[in-house]
Amino acid sequence: MKKGSKDLVVKAGDYLSEIQALAQSPFTIMEVCGTHTVAIAKNALRELLPDTVRLISGPGCPVCVTDSSDIDRYLYLAAQHNVITATFGDMIRVPGTDKNLQTLRAEGADVRIVYSTQDALELARKNPDKEVTFLGIGFETTIPTVAVSLVTAKEEGIKNYSVLSMHKVVPPVLKLLAEDDELVVDAFLDPGHVCAIIGIEPIEFMAKDYGKPGVVTGFEALDILEAVVMLLRQRAEGRSEIEIQYNRVAKAEGNPHAKLIVERVFEPVDASWRGIGLIPQSGLGIREEYAAWDAAKKFSLPIFHSKETPGCRCGDVLKGLIYPTQCPLFARHCTPMKPVGPCMVSSEGSCAAYYRYSQGS
Ligand code: SF4
Repeated sequence: MKKGSKDLVVKAGDYLSEIQALAQSPFTIMEVCGTHTVAIAKNALRELLPDTVRLISGPGCPVCVTDSSDIDRYLYLAAQHNVITATFGDMIRVPGTDKNLQTLRAEGADVRIVYSTQDALELARKNPDKEVTFLGIGFETTIPTVAVSLVTAKEEGIKNYSVLSMHKVVPPVLKLLAEDDELVVDAFLDPGHVCAIIGIEPIEFMAKDYGKPGVVTGFEALDILEAVVMLLRQRAEGRSEIEIQYNRVAKAEGNPHAKLIVERVFEPVDASWRGIGLIPQSGLGIREEYAAWDAAKKFSLPIFHSKETPGCRCGDVLKGLIYPTQCPLFARHCTPMKPVGPCMVSSEGSCAAYYRYSQGS
């Protein structure tokens, strides 16, 4: 074994020994980031931890928390004549009530996978006789790039570009989880990329007001193990704070430039989360100043009232009430090849992560 690898193994062993020593009584930690969900599953961290430490997944996958009504709404938009729908690839197979983007594309809708909002803008520049709409789904991590695209479109006068904003922000859902009596969570692995943008001030209420400590965590196995140690140390020392483990990227103040541009373009609105319901001020709508680039207004999109997919327990998975394997459809009727719900479609969905890495509860 090379020296670097040996050092990592030694480090992991040290963390696991400390976790073992500190976890004398049950301790439940929720991660609220899809990338953490995947890293935990991929590295089999649940199996490595003592039985007293329970890791559960929360609403950390932006595709998964997108409400069925929003999915049907963007499918309605994608089916319109003369519209090019620009989207990240993980949205393509997310099922709506009757169809998904893939089936719409087979029926003739113009749906393009893009890798950035700049790609979507470029599509608009190259297709001036078409309307290019970008599907804005994501948390604070990706929202700044969408804001930049809207500012650019306005500055350059690109009138055939718009965004359907279904963006969500993390602090309100954390508050809801902290207030949920059904859910027993002692502490949180806070999302490293989200906090790299917003900093820790917007989530400090979790530790101060609700006694739920958190650690802003990176995405390597060692990052996560170290964060678990930090949380257990807080419990042992009777502290409840938001600490940063991922300090090579996330700073306490966040990214002021990114925050400013988001503030310039978006404003807080109430938003529906799949399986959770309406959470006040948990979404971001496009400000009036940018209304000409707001797809909901531009196309006068109707509001949908769609039902959740029958049998799918994504909502309970997203709230950490069940493990994916406890859904009766898991791996039987619902697989990544034939997904019933979005938690199985998205690469960051809990059900897909459990399926791919054969995690059990
Ligand atoms: Fe929904 Fe499939 Fe997950 Fe069950 S396994 S909760 S049906 S996505």
